[in-house]
Amino acid sequence: MQTPPRSQTSWFRQTAGGGALALLLLTTTRAQTTDPNKPWPFAPRATSAPPAAATPRPAAATPGTIAPVATPRPFGAAAAPDQGPREVPLVEKKWDELVNKEVSKDGTTALEIEKDKWKHAETENFILHYRRATEAQKVAREVEYDLWFVAKTLGATKDRYQRKSHVFIFEDEDEWKKFVGLTKAPAWSASFAYGDELFLNVRRTEGPKRFDSNTLAHETTHAVVARLFPQKRWPLWLNEGWAEYMGGASVAARKGQSVKGHQARLRLAEMPLATLEALKEYPSDEASVRQLYQTSEKLVRFLMDEMPKERILQFIDAALAGKSLRDSVLEVYGDKVKDWPDFEKKFEKFTK
Ligand SMILES: [Zn+2]
Repeated sequence: MQTPPRSQTSWFRQTAGGGALALLLLTTTRAQTTDPNKPWPFAPRATSAPPAAATPRPAAATPGTIAPVATPRPFGAAAAPDQGPREVPLVEKKWDELVNKEVSKDGTTALEIEKDKWKHAETENFILHYRRATEAQKVAREVEYDLWFVAKTLGATKDRYQRKSHVFIFEDEDEWKKFVGLTKAPAWSASFAYGDELFLNVRRTEGPKRFDSNTLAHETTHAVVARLFPQKRWPLWLNEGWAEYMGGASVAARKGQSVKGHQARLRLAEMPLATLEALKEYPSDEASVRQLYQTSEKLVRFLMDEMPKERILQFIDAALAGKSLRDSVLEVYGDKVKDWPDFEKKFEKFTK
């Protein structure tokens, strides 16, 4: 039996088909002990899947507080102030009326639990399955905004993400545990993304266990990436760094916060870049995991804040093409830094 979860952790992996599985977990504050020889914590879903790569999302440096993060405006926003979706109508539909009923195996499993109690609704870009409209409405508003924010930042037009993603919203702890027990996700999972689907455990209770917007935005970012870059496997650091950075930035932008200077929050962003880049799987000890997430976020933050942010897609493309971090940086930002050591020095000093 799990001890009561205290801190947030998230997990991510990708299958050979490019489907991303990102898990948000609630773990105890004690370090997770893992067997490094085991494809932990998931068995591959596809026979040709690459080695499992999964990792806890480290708890916030200051538990209980969510530090505001830098809030870059999406590209073009300054010229044409587009505030993103605010009012998101939730249109309840019968199952048979849904625009697409293709769900994953886990989705089918979810829908079979207390089958008659599921309600369904569509928004512009998502299909939600839920028990209570109140929570579904909140999730709908946030995932639509996160999708808009991430897609806009990546310069992605609507035609690149036309098919609606399914979102499964659980509110009952026992029901969620039952569901997780029927999937390959670890028993202590609180939420996860698989491909472009989101499985969320949204508790009704207030308090530290409450599902928070930053977590939702982090997982939604993974789902949006899966939607925009099908069949692509992102380097571990870029995937988690992007989700951490964009998740925080989306929430801040939605709330109208414009805060810089919170790089100080990333106290553990001290992993050498060579080590960071070499990581193909999540480390098994919590300290290294935190370093991975924070250093990754710092690196994405540095590229977005200190380098011309409109080149980020070019950088992502270089990284996805298999180029090294050094080569990608020098190819895309070569006019901004003297050489690689110069980039490393500037990154080290970066504290915004
Ligand atoms: Zn993640």
